[in-house]
Amino acid sequence: MTMLTHPIRTCVGCRSRKEQQLLTRYVPNGVGQPVASRTSSGRGAWICNESATCIAAATKTRAFDRAWKTQSSTRQALAIKISTTRQLTRAAQP
Ligand SMILES: [Zn+2]
Repeated sequence: MTMLTHPIRTCVGCRSRKEQQLLTRYVPNGVGQPVASRTSSGRGAWICNESATCIAAATKTRAFDRAWKTQSSTRQALAIKISTTRQLTRAAQP
């Protein structure tokens, strides 16, 4: 028996399971940020098509790192630096 089903992928942002065509594949660029690519080799993370919400959620929960199996110590350090800068900026404002 032949099954003619579409491949199912899970969005790493909202954890929805959808047909592959409804999701966009992201791969890490040189600095570990997600870039949409269906052709790059290596591990990909799937995100709902054109969903900034899912990208933000995946970034926040570091779901990209889990999908890519990467250690993002550099990016975590950067995120800490950014949040510190934000706090300083906020503190400086009335
Ligand atoms: Zn999603």
